[in-house]
Amino acid sequence: GQPAELPDIQHGRLIIDKNEQPTPPPPSETLVFGRTFTDHMLTIEWSATNGWEAPHIKPYGPLNLAPSSSVLHYAQTLFEGMKAYRTDDDRIQLFRPDMNMKRMNNSARRIALPTFNGDSLLELIKKLIRMDRHWVPKEPGHSLYIRPTLIASQQAIQVSPPTEAILFVICSPVGPYFPKPVSLYATTEYIRAAPGGTGAFKLGVNYAPAVMPQKMVAEKGYSQNLWLHGPEHYLTEVGTMNMFVVLKKDDGDLEIVTPPLDGMILPGITRDSVLQLLRDHISGTRPIRGLDKGEKLAVSERGITMKEVKDASQTGKLVELFGAGTAAIISPVHKIGYLNEDIEIPTGPDGMGRIARAVRKELSDIQWGKISHPWSVPV
Ligand code: PMP
Repeated sequence: GQPAELPDIQHGRLIIDKNEQPTPPPPSETLVFGRTFTDHMLTIEWSATNGWEAPHIKPYGPLNLAPSSSVLHYAQTLFEGMKAYRTDDDRIQLFRPDMNMKRMNNSARRIALPTFNGDSLLELIKKLIRMDRHWVPKEPGHSLYIRPTLIASQQAIQVSPPTEAILFVICSPVGPYFPKPVSLYATTEYIRAAPGGTGAFKLGVNYAPAVMPQKMVAEKGYSQNLWLHGPEHYLTEVGTMNMFVVLKKDDGDLEIVTPPLDGMILPGITRDSVLQLLRDHISGTRPIRGLDKGEKLAVSERGITMKEVKDASQTGKLVELFGAGTAAIISPVHKIGYLNEDIEIPTGPDGMGRIARAVRKELSDIQWGKISHPWSVPV
């Protein structure tokens, strides 16, 4: 007969083991991104024979992993990055967390790790945040970074679909990123992603190979890699952010371009949100404060090459270029090093172009609950 259906993640089965030695959160001004963790973590074990076990919230601490665990050999690991924000009236909220749950399941499918009920995991993440709610910083621009992770844990040095896995969630209070303009090095020596590869998924395997190129650009005096694709040098992503280019068209209207989701681009939640905010502004459904309603804007998801960017810069048609991601929200770019020359990019008097500034303000006001929006999910 048919095998019985194995249990999915069920938040109702949660077991709580409280941390009896909680530590006080350190002063916010001493926070370094991703170095401090809250008192509790969530773990859920999975096996091919029993499905998802009861979820467990327990003190933050080491996992029990054998040296033969396949994650340690073949990088069978994936993760998410999301934030909890404290509003001025002390509510805590998430930003489009359903998108993180969907993306995490897509990543799991790509490397044959088990999928799960995203709504249930989200309920458990909310519970974890509520238990450590005093760790969500109060200071402006601060937040609690949440890192759900899924790893293959079976003891077998064999490249095959995992038969055991551990899903865990850890949380880290983080300070603000000041939107200081960054410089990019258009990298022609290395790639981040390729057609048919894994660039569109949030897998650990995409990040380790970027560490050495990142070190290389830092030595050259730039701050991030601008990842290119193909002999035409299509722009793809900036460090670990999606990217937008603002161009002035021949008729003077603006075109805001971002590379299409062609399998090499991580489908960023910030990217999707920027696109939706701009499209709602253009249609008049929901104007972005700080952008002129009469101004003609167009949004394109299309390929854009370094030649187009360089030509636009030489003819004064390159208006802005910025990265977009959960960590920094919007990160303006002032310069791209490309084939032994520097392409300068306007950033405006306060270091941010008009579009970047307006979009950043709109997004952060939604995230920190200064304006209400269906994207905000109470914890
Ligand atoms: N690209 C890459 C490679 C990333 O790691 C991230 C961060 N998750 C992003 C883009 C931005 O995605 P998001 O807006 O969902 O944070």
